[in-house]
Amino acid sequence: MKEGRLFVISAPSGAGKSTLIERLRALSPDLAYSISCTTRQPRGDEKDGIHYYFLSRDRFETMIRNDEFLEFKEVHGNFYGTPAEPVAEVLKRGGSIILDIDVMGALEVFKRVRNAVGVFISAPDMEALEKRLRARGTDSEASIQTRMRNAVREIEIGSSFQYQIVNDDLERAVKDLASIIRKESGLS
Ligand code: ADP
Ligand code: 5GP
Repeated sequence: MKEGRLFVISAPSGAGKSTLIERLRALSPDLAYSISCTTRQPRGDEKDGIHYYFLSRDRFETMIRNDEFLEFKEVHGNFYGTPAEPVAEVLKRGGSIILDIDVMGALEVFKRVRNAVGVFISAPDMEALEKRLRARGTDSEASIQTRMRNAVREIEIGSSFQYQIVNDDLERAVKDLASIIRKESGLS
């Protein structure tokens, strides 16, 4: 029987993970993507049920109590969690699924899901990271500062992931990510 893989993609905020995943999804429409729950406010043109499930703190805490998360963490001052059921469903039918989560959540998933594959994305350096966060134009100054502070520890933890991609040239980084997914899904 076909066996699906769970891919965990992590990066410091601003490294370009969302951009890369969006490109990957256009290339591989069959790949499933886990939609996380979060207590943070929608940013830019984010839509509920597409980018995230935007939940109240109360609703999120109820889901924690009901053990509905594969993992959940507090990241940059808000709660984020991966609903367990959709992930289990995709893997059960032999499909592969991508999780876009923070490094601490990733470590949790590596403990709980056999054969999960970790891919850590980084910007070429801290200066480029800060520049990208500012260029994105969606985060307050305080949020940019929090994200830059957290990046140091994230990069440290990310160095233990199975795969590392430096997102300097976007086209090359997309190709690298796509080839990791193909290889680990047994497609090449
Ligand atoms: P993340 O999801 O990791 O927080 P985003 O995908 O939102 O990051 O990217 C942050 C900003 O950096 C965006 O404005 C995006 O267009 C830009 N970006 C992404 N990849 C590159 C790249 N290779 N070179 C330059 N800018 C990039
Ligand atoms: P953002 O607020 O920029 O969308 O995401 C902030 C961080 O939270 C990113 O590192 C993102 O990968 C992470 N994140 C998003 N969803 C989840 C989740 O379900 N669980 C965990 N642990 N982190 C998540």
